[in-house]
Amino acid sequence: MKQEVLVSDIQKFAVNDGPGIRTLVFLKGCPMRCAWCHNPETQAPFPEIYWKFRLCVQCGACMDVCPKNAILPPISPKDAQSEGSAYHKILRDKCDRCLACVEACRYDALTVVGKSMTADEIIDEVEKDRPFYKNSGGGLTLSGGEPTCHPDFAAQILQAAKQRGIHTCLDTNGFCEWDVLEKMLENVDLALFDLKHTDAAIHKQHTGVGNEKILENLARLSETDVDIWIRIPVVPGFNDSKAFHTHAAEFLSRFKNQISRVDLLPFHNWCQDKYGWLGIDWPLKDTEATDPSFLEIPADMYREKGLAATVGGSGFEKTAKWASG
Ligand code: SF4
Ligand code: SF4
Repeated sequence: MKQEVLVSDIQKFAVNDGPGIRTLVFLKGCPMRCAWCHNPETQAPFPEIYWKFRLCVQCGACMDVCPKNAILPPISPKDAQSEGSAYHKILRDKCDRCLACVEACRYDALTVVGKSMTADEIIDEVEKDRPFYKNSGGGLTLSGGEPTCHPDFAAQILQAAKQRGIHTCLDTNGFCEWDVLEKMLENVDLALFDLKHTDAAIHKQHTGVGNEKILENLARLSETDVDIWIRIPVVPGFNDSKAFHTHAAEFLSRFKNQISRVDLLPFHNWCQDKYGWLGIDWPLKDTEATDPSFLEIPADMYREKGLAATVGGSGFEKTAKWASG
């Protein structure tokens, strides 16, 4: 039987995750739990149910078929649809993901996140976008979740893409054994490598894991010939201080010959609906989005260290002030 992996989404025409126009493949499963995660549906390695409360008419059909009594009785649509309501239709700890409720819902208010796909099926989907790669310099970006959670599978997809002459990006948080990462590199043109914090204790507090392995993997990656773009999600109250950027710029400058650019990614809370659909109360939902222009000052700190820095990380960045040194 062919190996399959859970894919949470395949996004077309993406321009912020590597050069050119890209196809993003999001594999489900991640060992980290970043407090600001913009893709919470990619964290768990199993299919999950979205309850899209704005589509729900509270008909109760899902409740009638649930064998686990995991669905709460209907409430008024107004209450259910009010943003910020703490009402969660599904009691997730009772649910065994039989999906009977999804079948029963005639309003698409219940859907499943996570589709099992083989590497061939994924590559066939990526192949459809080939005409867009040619003139834009785009290709496949393998993302997640964390692709290195599925070492053999991810390596297989990257190899298949390379064999078809498709440019490959591996979007990784770097939290894996070096052997796992190394195994994929021969078929990776560009690594999009996250740096979240340089302090191990703060990193662990906000992501659930320490950063030692990540920093070590970055050092080893910089000794290979794989191009690297560092991506720093700048999150209020976590890593938006001058002290962090000073330290991060100093640290990254050690690898500046291999790092083509550093992307500062402004925090936003557009993903708050996804948390609601998954029944998660997201503590950052009321945190204001960062105005990208505010990140030009920290971006200059990286430029002063000889690193090319962008704000936003577009693959079509035209206005980036590339470092001269
Ligand atoms: S998937 Fe969960 S909530 Fe839905 S019917 Fe099955 S047990 Fe109930
Ligand atoms: S079946 Fe669908 S529309 Fe009806 S209550 Fe359940 S989620 Fe809402």
